Parts: sequence; structure tokens; C-alpha cells
Amino acid sequence: MNPAEIILVVILALAWGSFLNVCIYRIPLKKTFLLSRSLCPNCKNRISWYDNVPILSYLILKGKCRNCKHNISIQYPVVELSSGLLLLLAYLKFDLSWQFFSSFVLISILIVVSFIDLNHRIIPDIITLPGMVLGLIFSYFNPQSSLSASVIGFLSGGLSFYLLAYVGEAVFKKESMGGGDIKLAALLGAFLGWKNLIVVILLASFLGALIGGLKLTLSKSKKDKTIPLGPFLAIASILALFWGESLIKLYLSYFFSR
Ligand SMILES: [Zn+2]
Repeated sequence: MNPAEIILVVILALAWGSFLNVCIYRIPLKKTFLLSRSLCPNCKNRISWYDNVPILSYLILKGKCRNCKHNISIQYPVVELSSGLLLLLAYLKFDLSWQFFSSFVLISILIVVSFIDLNHRIIPDIITLPGMVLGLIFSYFNPQSSLSASVIGFLSGGLSFYLLAYVGEAVFKKESMGGGDIKLAALLGAFLGWKNLIVVILLASFLGALIGGLKLTLSKSKKDKTIPLGPFLAIASILALFWGESLIKLYLSYFFSR
């Protein structure tokens, strides 16, 4: 692939990342005008186009609003960079195939859902419900995946998380998992199929236990011991999307070689 093509893909993916930033900011506030001009959240000044260039503007402005010098959240360049890198990776791996378009939608959903979950501890239905349908549709058209694996993934993802939530609530007498997590698990099953869903659940539990344990040890305050599940499911899904087959082989060979 030639360098010009890669540069073009990265620029488009970074620009898409700044749109995802707008979604992360506005969807939880139920603002419908996703395409209206950006304002500084602090001084409400309009942000001009030259201060809205992905990554570059953040670096040039040293992370501060040009007008009021209020700190701009590091989340903006992080989202742009994640979008840029992950979509480039999807393009390099899948070319312009159904698999690419499916990955493009899934990666976008995962970035938005992770940051909304981190900021607000919710996973909005307005993303997951249409997302589930899209996952099933893509699996139907995508020659790399099968509709039956996707339907089984969708049902088993939703059902297993529903049962986990039910048992968790019965045992701990408080809500351990939200309805948003259940719908996200169903969505992931629809996009990735049931085999990769198993990889996602194993990886996410491992990551969750690791980070949760670290947080429990490091944080002194009794408050805020909970961690949102969405970002772990998202990281695990990205790994399964790109390296699911190899991870399954590695896992099986580990258990059946002895
Ligand atoms: Zn400002």
C-alpha cells in the first residue's frame, strides 16, 4: 500500500474521531444537533475550524481554550488517536471489504460507548439498540461471518449477561450490572459471533479483575470502588476483532497440548 493512501486513511479516521468526540459529549445530554458548531464547554465561545483540527490543535493550544485558557480534556486527542489508529489497522487488515465496514461501525460504537460509560456510567440505548440490528445485518452480508453464529452470539450474549446480572443482584443485594451492559453484550455477540464472544468475555473478565484489583489496592478512598464494565468489553472486543482466531488457537493449544 502506498504512503499517500495510508496518510489519506489516517486523516479521514482522525476527522471521524472528532465526530465521535461530539457524539460522546452530546448523546448523554440528549442534544440532537450532532452537526452544529462546537463550543468551548467553559466559556461557550465558538471554536473556529483551525482550532478544531484533530490532535494538532490540541498540541498547538497546549491543551487550553484559546479564548478562556480553560483546560481542554485529554479525552479529545485520545479519542481522535484511537479512532485514527484502530480504523487504519482495520483498513490494513480487511481492505475495503464487508469485514472493514462492519469493523468500522463496531470500532466507532465501542469508542463512543466506552467514554460515555467512563464519564456517566451509562450505555445509552440509542447506540446499542440500532447497533444490535446493524451487527446482525453486517453478519448476513459479510462473507467472513455467518448469520447463524451472529444470532447465537446475540442471544447468548444477552442471556448470559442477563443471568449474571440477576444472580449478582440476588447474591450482593445491589445492582452489579446495568441493563446497558446486557445490551452491549448482545451487540458484541451480533457483530463478532458466539466464538469470539467467548474470547471477549474471558479477556474482559481478566482485564477487569486485573485493573479492578489494582484500583482497590491503589485507591485510598472508600468511595468509587466500582469500575464501569463497558471499556473492558470494548478493549476485549477490539482484541477479538483483530486477533480472535489466533487467540482461540493459542487458548486451545494451551489446553490440549498437555
Ligand atoms: Zn473557553
